[in-house]
Amino acid sequence: MLIFLSTEATVAEQARILDFLKRFGVRGFSTRFGGRSVFVAAEGKPFCSPSDPVFQEVADMDGVDEVVPVSAPYPLCCLSLRPEGSVIKTLDFSVGNGTFGVIGGPCTVESESQTLETARCVKAAGATALRGGAFKPRTSPYAFQGLKEEGLRILAKARQETGLAVVTEAMSSAEALLIEEYADVVQIGTRNAQNYRLLETCGQLRKPVLLKRGFSCSLDEFLMSAEYILAGGNEQVILCERGIRTFETYSRYTLSVGAIPALKMLTHLPIVVDPSHAAGRIDLVAPLALASVAAGADGLLVEVHPDPKKALCDGRQSLAPEEFESMFKACLRVRAAIR
Ligand code: PEP
Ligand code: MN
Repeated sequence: MLIFLSTEATVAEQARILDFLKRFGVRGFSTRFGGRSVFVAAEGKPFCSPSDPVFQEVADMDGVDEVVPVSAPYPLCCLSLRPEGSVIKTLDFSVGNGTFGVIGGPCTVESESQTLETARCVKAAGATALRGGAFKPRTSPYAFQGLKEEGLRILAKARQETGLAVVTEAMSSAEALLIEEYADVVQIGTRNAQNYRLLETCGQLRKPVLLKRGFSCSLDEFLMSAEYILAGGNEQVILCERGIRTFETYSRYTLSVGAIPALKMLTHLPIVVDPSHAAGRIDLVAPLALASVAAGADGLLVEVHPDPKKALCDGRQSLAPEEFESMFKACLRVRAAIR
């Protein structure tokens, strides 16, 4: 259960609530959600039902605003907590609860001119956020690792010029804190989706976090990772389905389209889909984007490069600006059709 405290709860009342719970072996920890202090009863009676006398008694205590039953091990992510869905908004970029947000940009920031050119193109097509890696997770230690802080400066310049929100990946806690200074959304990549110390750092950030699904994470594991960030007090989490590893080799990964409606039934967090990394090839990007929109995705994250053949990273899956624009238009038609 989740025990929401009233804003006027005194220190003495809070101590009495914890003492009372301790008598029944209930332990947990305190955080904030929706602007309110909340005690997450993790041990003892995590799934305490409203018919349980402990649930009723604690609900009647002074200092308690509301007690909410939980039915999943990721209570703060549960749909029941905010059935209308969460909205994550920064600058003009907004996703969730009916708003549709598209993030476009290169796999990696290569230069100022490449980044600015891409930013102008994705903005002209309708995107409200720019992506671009400054710290790149590369399979080979010999591959281009990104421009690092210089890349962040270039992204900040692109935001200044275009007004686009900037989304960029952190692979360590130190990078996350640095990115918080320069960018608008901190991306956690598939390879770090279960890096719990990094997720704890994300819980402390004052900026939204785009959490990609680990390529071998179940949906429960994915939501448990999100729960780490919410438990730390940062409820601005955007989930991103980007394909999982299967036996199929035709595409780079396999996009789990079914994950979109499934997550919609489980969580209030918005769901963005990355068809680029799922596909690994240009010809599948738009079809997967359309399928994702039809399945209810709240947004898209798509790789775009002004000259994909010359891209330093992921050129084979990066759309040219005109391909991005036509994909975007088709997605809006699908969205209008399903509404
Ligand atoms: C990326 O978005 O640049 C990236 C590396 O994606 P993923 O973590 O999904 O592989
Ligand atoms: Mn990439």
